[in-house]
Amino acid sequence: MDKIESILKQMTLEDKIALCSGESFWETKAFEKYGIPAAFICDGPHGLRKQDLGGGTDMLGVNQSRPATCFPSAVTTGGSWDPELLSEVGAAIGEEAKAQGVGLMLGPGANLKRNPLCGRNFEYFSEDPYLTGKLAAGFIRGVEAKGVGSSLKHFAANSQEKSRFTSDSVIDERTLREMYLSSFETAVKEGRPSTVMCAYPKLNGIHCSDNEELLTGILRREWGFDGMVVTDWGAMNDRIEGFRAGCDLNMPGGSAYMEKEVLAAVKAGTLPESAVDDSARRVLKLVFRAAETLKEAAECDYNAHHDLAARAAEQGAVLLKNEGSVLPLKDGQTVALLGHMAREMRYQGSGSSHINPTKVINPVDAMHDLPFAPGCDARGDTTDGLIAQAVVLAKQVEVPVVFAGLPGRYESEGFDRENMKIPEGHLRLIDAVGAANPNTVVVLLCGAPVECPWVDKVKAILYMGLPGQAGGQAVADLLYGKVNPSGKLAESWPLRYEDCPSASFYGKTKDALYQEGVYVGYRYYDKARKAVRWPFGYGLSYTTFGYSALKAEGRTVTVTVANTGNLAGGEVVQLFVCSPQDGVHRPARELKGFQKVFLQPGEAKTVTFTLDDRAFALWQDGWKIPAGTYGVEVGGLTAAIRVEGDALPIPEWQAGSWYETCDGTPTQAGWEVMLGRKYMPPVLKKGWFTMDNTVMEMKDYSLIMKIMFKFVEATVAKGFGGKKDYEAPEFRMLMESSAGGPLRSMQISGGMKGGLFQGLLEMANGHFFKGIGKMIRG
Ligand code: BGC
Repeated sequence: MDKIESILKQMTLEDKIALCSGESFWETKAFEKYGIPAAFICDGPHGLRKQDLGGGTDMLGVNQSRPATCFPSAVTTGGSWDPELLSEVGAAIGEEAKAQGVGLMLGPGANLKRNPLCGRNFEYFSEDPYLTGKLAAGFIRGVEAKGVGSSLKHFAANSQEKSRFTSDSVIDERTLREMYLSSFETAVKEGRPSTVMCAYPKLNGIHCSDNEELLTGILRREWGFDGMVVTDWGAMNDRIEGFRAGCDLNMPGGSAYMEKEVLAAVKAGTLPESAVDDSARRVLKLVFRAAETLKEAAECDYNAHHDLAARAAEQGAVLLKNEGSVLPLKDGQTVALLGHMAREMRYQGSGSSHINPTKVINPVDAMHDLPFAPGCDARGDTTDGLIAQAVVLAKQVEVPVVFAGLPGRYESEGFDRENMKIPEGHLRLIDAVGAANPNTVVVLLCGAPVECPWVDKVKAILYMGLPGQAGGQAVADLLYGKVNPSGKLAESWPLRYEDCPSASFYGKTKDALYQEGVYVGYRYYDKARKAVRWPFGYGLSYTTFGYSALKAEGRTVTVTVANTGNLAGGEVVQLFVCSPQDGVHRPARELKGFQKVFLQPGEAKTVTFTLDDRAFALWQDGWKIPAGTYGVEVGGLTAAIRVEGDALPIPEWQAGSWYETCDGTPTQAGWEVMLGRKYMPPVLKKGWFTMDNTVMEMKDYSLIMKIMFKFVEATVAKGFGGKKDYEAPEFRMLMESSAGGPLRSMQISGGMKGGLFQGLLEMANGHFFKGIGKMIRG
């Protein structure tokens, strides 16, 4: 610390400002004269995406990165409900980072799965903040224990990909606190990450990078975070406000974005130098820790990490259906593997978390003696011939196993899904095989829930999510019962998309309007008594479990869980608190505790939970506990707890509102009453454009932006053989993050120093010559 203080004293103001922006796409700045080294930063969180500088660098996983273990995505590890397992995965990624000279790894993601269509749901753990926070904390502890920094992202309320660079997340305070901040709060307090990454979208009108209340008031003062805040790549809005807010490191580097303005503001006394010092100090803390860690030579065992990736996939897989115990497959049974995904499984998502795996074990590799028919192609399309071939094979065996789900182009960082359907070819294959053989098993490979209208046509369904590079091995071990499935859904699976509480407005506007309030996922389905395909927390096993002796004494809850079947297996004991429903509106039940236990046949364990105040609290200008009798629900048993607390005033608007009944769909008008203000949509108008507008939105108003759009499109297309391939996720992502990003992001992410974008902006606003002048001066 003394070293850092003494360096800070020697540094010029200019250098301190410069230190707070990166050097390159992935590095912080080194200053030899002060003895400050650079720290290398890499993406995670499902493995290490280390790109060599000088080769292509990007934030979308398009260019090559060094081989690393591709662990299952958070959609799969989330199903494990096992923070310790997440710690092991985090530690393994930390080891790989250390071995590759990386001091900071960007992950985990703690955003909530608000709506199944979010293209990046696969990178997040759950629809529930308690579960998300605990799993993220476990992962962080693992990475940090290796001396490598983690970065909890994307802070905050970044639950959609549509317009992610420019949208405003409009949320009422209670929903923000109980849902979207709560997962981060647990992860910060219990995981202690070295860094937090601020998100792209605005939060209630203020960019996250400029948001003092968020980055200092809540994160640091309330939660005690003492690390560094880094921007998401290109998320810095106003560098002066950023320093004031406590946004420390602007990434990627190279653009010197607004550094002159910051200098002028400090000199003019409008920004205190102490704000720059605070940020520089936090950057220094991070880089010196990284240097310390990387002093020691590090090796890691990639084979052991591959095995861990297999174990993580096995622990997170969820058995959704198993009629007549068709699974596990029995020795000597004839089995066939059907579907293109058996040969080329989808095992990770597209975007910044995309890993170049050390190896990949597909299902056909792991079960190489079984016959195989593709049934469809890589896109999910099929032909009568492919279906007929699969049906012939399905009829020849006792159990056909169909691999289906979502091909890469359906879900990715950078854009949201259009619907919850799987490709036509997969549907036809399941239907045809299911009709040909009554013992059909389906293995699902996708990063988010899909509609399953075919559920009654098959005997068993195993959901693997995106299981990482060892996914094929994990599938084989689970199908053959070498491992007993123990994963539970970390999100509800609605019967159809329209059943989601936010279906009628999610992704329909540039801004994200959180009209459903706290009623996300099971909080809505339970209260609305709406049937779902599979509920939150659901998952079968090859054995059975029985619960007994649920007792609540004071705040301590105990329950006994026994393995009542014939196989060893794991069970996730889940505790829900059921709040009184006669006061301030609340979900019917909320997860407030869980523990995964492994039991031999006949074995029983007593599990103990201690409930803290937050288990009963709601947000009403602070955390308050409504006094009353609460229910505690575990494994279908219930007990009552009398809780002392306050008599909280019921909001005037509550009676008969959607939030009280969850009946029908929340309307914008009803939501505005709850929010306490009217929502004003953004206005697009020539003359009013700012650096916060995108080429994509200005192109319809300005010729120069139209030309710019065509230019960007043609440039991106060069990487796709000249084709404007909007079907390819990489193409769409690149377009979204260039032409779809605000001008300021284009400047930062492009590492551009000049006044090009300021000039273009003037032109877009109709000031052609002024624009030319700015470009020349820049
Ligand atoms: C993503 C982050 C990622 C960063 C760097 C951004 O586009 O949102 O999650 O860490 O790029 O690649």
